[in-house]
Parts: sequence; C-alpha cells; structure tokens
Amino acid sequence: MALLIQKYGGSSIPTPARIRAVARHIAASHREGHDVVVVMSAMGGVTDQLLAQARDISTAPAARELDALLATGEQASNALTAMALRDLGVEARSLTGWQAGILTSPDHGRAAVTDVRPHRVRDALDHGVIPLVTGFQGAEPGDADITTLGRGGSDTTAVALAAALEADACEIYTDVAGVYTADPKVVPEARPLARLTHRHMYEMAAGGAKVLALPSVEHARQHGVTLHIRSSYDDSPGTVVSGTVSGAEYWGPGPRVIAVTHDPHGTRTSLPGPLGPTATALLSIVTPAPAFAGPTRPYAHPWHTARQGAFPEEGIATASLVGSGLCAHPETAATLDGALTRAGIAYAPLTVTDTRITVMCHPAALDDTVRVLHAAFLTATPEPPVARRGGRLAVRS
Ligand code: ASP
Ligand code: MG
Repeated sequence: MALLIQKYGGSSIPTPARIRAVARHIAASHREGHDVVVVMSAMGGVTDQLLAQARDISTAPAARELDALLATGEQASNALTAMALRDLGVEARSLTGWQAGILTSPDHGRAAVTDVRPHRVRDALDHGVIPLVTGFQGAEPGDADITTLGRGGSDTTAVALAAALEADACEIYTDVAGVYTADPKVVPEARPLARLTHRHMYEMAAGGAKVLALPSVEHARQHGVTLHIRSSYDDSPGTVVSGTVSGAEYWGPGPRVIAVTHDPHGTRTSLPGPLGPTATALLSIVTPAPAFAGPTRPYAHPWHTARQGAFPEEGIATASLVGSGLCAHPETAATLDGALTRAGIAYAPLTVTDTRITVMCHPAALDDTVRVLHAAFLTATPEPPVARRGGRLAVRS
C-alpha cells in the first residue's frame, strides 16, 4: 500500500466522459489498496475561455479578480470528478487549494508555493476518503486571497503535495506517453524518453517543453520528488524524472543530446519593452561563444545581417538542444550549424551552456528548425531504455 499523488491535466479531461474515465482509474488505484490524493487541472480549454471572458469584460482586469476567476476552472473539474467517484461507490471529497493548505506568495498570477499544511487532506485519507485538490491555486497567508501559480501550475500543486505528504509516487497524467525527444505534434518520429534527470527536465521546460510547468520541476528537484509522467489514455510506461539517472545509454560517451525543445515566443520573457528595437539590440550583443567556432563558418549569422530591423511583431522563436557535455564538445555546435545551414534556416545563438544550446529563429521557420535538429541529433541514436509497464516508482530520489 502506497501513498500516491495523481495529477490529471486538462488534456486528460476534455469531456464529461473523460472525467468518468479518470474517476474509474482513481477508483481502481484506491481499490488496489493505495491512498490516493488527486490533483485536478481545469477541463481542457477552460482556463483560456475564462481568460477570454475577462478580456471581454475589462481591458485591465485586476490581478486579484483574475485569480478569483481562473481558480474556478479547477474548482469545477475537481467537484465533478468527486461526484463521478461517489457514483462509483468511492468516498471522495473535493478541496480547494486553500482548504488543502496550499499557502503561497501574494504574487497574483504567478504565486510561488511557500508552505503546505495539508491537515484536511490527511484527515480525508485517515477516514478512507479520497481527497481531491484543485490544482493551480492556493491562498496567501495574509488575508487569504486566492492566488494562482501561473499557467500549468497544477503540476506544482502535485509536487508540493507529494513533498509535504512524503508520498511514495507523484504521477502526472497527460495525453501523451511521457516526455518526448521533441514535441510529437511537430516531429512525428519523436519518441518518449524512459527517464530524465531533474536537471534535463528543467532545461527542457526552460526551453519551452510544455509537459511540465517550470516551477514544478524546480520544486521537485529541491525536495527530491521523483515524477512519473504518463498517459491517462493508455498503459504506456511513461517517463520517470528523478535526481540521478545512471547508465551509459543515458549519458553516453562525448556530447549527448537528449531532446529538442521549442518555444514560439522564446525571447519574449527575456526582452523588456517593445520587441522590435530591443530584439535588434539583443541580437547585436549576441557574440559567438567559443564552442561555436565550428569548422563551417564563423557565427556571423545571416539572419542578423540580412534581417536587421525586420523582426516579426510576434517576437522571436527559440529552439533548444538539451543534453550534456554540449559546451565541452564543439562538434555539437558544428553539427547544429551544418544542419541548419544546409536546410537554409537563418538562426542566431542565444544561450550556450553545457546542458542547453538555444538558438533564435523566425517564428515561421520554427517547426522546420526543430525537425532539422531532431533529424541531425536524435534520429540515429538507439532506442532509449523503456520503463516497466504499469510499474510504480518511488517519489524520493
Ligand atoms: N488550468 C491551468 C492552465 O491551463 C493550470 C493547469 O492546467 O495546470 O494553465
Ligand atoms: Mg500542463
């Protein structure tokens, strides 16, 4: 018997039928004898609809009220799932973030979890009742105003509860079979990774991978929470994210590219002020890193010279290689440059570290950039090891 956190993302519950399917899965875990704490996201698309409604009403909605509004998406899906569980003959109790003791900083829209006091969650478990906690929200300790944790914040709720309750497993259910070598919607031959370190998962999230919210990965790393990302639609083994990963097939000799991630608005967050001029200025200060002195040509990137002053309104996209030893081995940069140059893709390096190389490109060229990089670095590597089907994994690493 184990204590499991099971978080269900919005893509797992787009319809009432899917809420019932998820409830059956939760009930099955409960009947196997496990203590299950459920964390629900809003039904797919609901948070975006609420945001659109706010914009219809007000050009500048107050942050406090926006949080009060957005929090209702998770409250609805949470209560609906509790109803579905009770219909299956399982006692269940929906709790809001604050009822579950999720305390946060007062930063509306991007609050950080500062403390978890899950008395009511424990009380439900002690009585054989399944507690369901609304993801993505908590309250600030001062006047208990509702706060939200930023987009994708239900992941952080799940990790925070896993750490506070010292859960045996933190399962993040989604609509794909784990974390992939690239977004499978862009790269059809991308494949799920059996395991990842927190560090690599962090770099992937920072590089735009949407599968886990960035703060949740940092929280998991700090508290040693092992995550198991898996599909709520089938029994595929999923991806285990933990503190350390051993094995030559993971680290390999020389540089090791593990994944290609992308972000259509990659530089938006790092650019204050109006995008056009700032982006131009940013590009002009991007200097070739030593690792980029590849044999093909110096990194006087064509995009910089050819398109100066003509940056797209929507910002600059980024694509990233995530892996290890990327700086230490200049052949990574040479391969990247060769592949993008042969494909005629203009780009400029933005970040070069040992675990991530991020390049900027035109948003219209982003999908091609990702496909070219995936083909250059990941198509030829052997299949990664596959996790045990249906296995449960310890939360502490
Ligand atoms: N519903 C929120 C969002 O769409 C939080 C989440 O899904 O984790 O961002
Ligand atoms: Mg998510």
